[in-house]
Amino acid sequence: MTEGTIHIRKGREKPIRNQHPWIFSGAIFKADNAEDGDIVTVLDHKGNFLARGYWNHLSQIQVRIMTWEDETIDEAWWRNMLQRAIMTRYPKPEFYAGNRIINAENDFIPGLIVDRYSNYLVLQALTLYIDQQKQMIAELLADLFEQADMPIKGIYERSDVDVRGKEGLKETKGLLWGEEPPELVPFRDDNLIRIVDVRTGHKTGYYLDQRENHALIQELSEQNSWTFDDNRILNTFSFSGGFGLRSTAHVVNVDSSEEALELARHTYKGNEWRDKNVDYVEADVFDYLRDAVERQEEYDLVILDPPKFAQNKRQVDSAARGYKDINLNGFKLVKSRGYLMTFSCSGAISRDLFQKIVFGALADSGRQAQIIKHLSASADHPIALTFPEGEYLKGLLLKVY
Ligand code: SAH
Repeated sequence: MTEGTIHIRKGREKPIRNQHPWIFSGAIFKADNAEDGDIVTVLDHKGNFLARGYWNHLSQIQVRIMTWEDETIDEAWWRNMLQRAIMTRYPKPEFYAGNRIINAENDFIPGLIVDRYSNYLVLQALTLYIDQQKQMIAELLADLFEQADMPIKGIYERSDVDVRGKEGLKETKGLLWGEEPPELVPFRDDNLIRIVDVRTGHKTGYYLDQRENHALIQELSEQNSWTFDDNRILNTFSFSGGFGLRSTAHVVNVDSSEEALELARHTYKGNEWRDKNVDYVEADVFDYLRDAVERQEEYDLVILDPPKFAQNKRQVDSAARGYKDINLNGFKLVKSRGYLMTFSCSGAISRDLFQKIVFGALADSGRQAQIIKHLSASADHPIALTFPEGEYLKGLLLKVY
């Protein structure tokens, strides 16, 4: 089989040389012998080697680059790249129970996400090429974890994501390797036990990107000596209650999903010291916040971690209105000298724009606030410096007066 060749239009090679991993159809002059889902070699208009990646003519991103060196992408390449990503997360072979192992383009392995929860890995194949290679990838991962003295029991696929449609793929999930995971998988997060439903939970079962921000709540609790009886946290868009579990305050978890709240109940029960002074409220957060302002409720900390409001650039304005609404009411609910922790995970909204929206909400609220910390995804979600699209999660920890 001859490898396909992609010829780049004159003047369009700069982003490729700068190691941006995506090549859109507009940059391509012609494609020779390229088969969807196969490796292709990318050449400049003079025929010089630029990169090697994989091809799918159905996608707007027709090539995703895997290497900028003239090397063969075979099983040895894969073993090396997977091992590199694993070693970045586990510099020492120790049992560290929940984190992202492969962060797709940001680990220079486009289209592949792998998360670990205890002895199980959860894999997402977002593109055709990765979908075709997933069995080989699963076997290599199992072998690499075995060699690193962190043997895993099973690898479960959670490719039930609609972006696969852009690659002409259907959603799919199921066991790829080893044993089927149990209905609920516990994993250790410092001294806490988290519980994930890897088979049907959101994403791969947990918002691992927020793990380090969850931990910040513990710091805030300790610094301010918050107690179950005297202090209150409003944890909106709570999912399994990740933020509140880290605190020693009364927590109000609000989510519109009953399954999410059920998972939160299980999680809090599994951490006995925390299983008191918790409310689980099934409600729309927009309504809940409005009503809470009406009731003149006050909190030591309000957390706003909504789902992605802007799916693309066209939705930025309406998303901005949504962010402003929840942040305005959020500010109104914070006690003087309390905190607001606010996030956006919309890739289409920059950090700068998000801060402006929050500033707008502050101005309307009549409060004063200081930025204590800029927040990002946890360190196991690295962002390739050449791939700004990788930075989707941004947040602010604010002190409010
Ligand atoms: N804060 C969580 C992750 C939040 S994900 C964590 O750290 O783990 C977003 C959550 O918002 C989901 O659980 C979803 O069910 C919920 N949600 C989405 N829209 C909502 C709405 N309008 N009102 C209440 N909850 C909503």
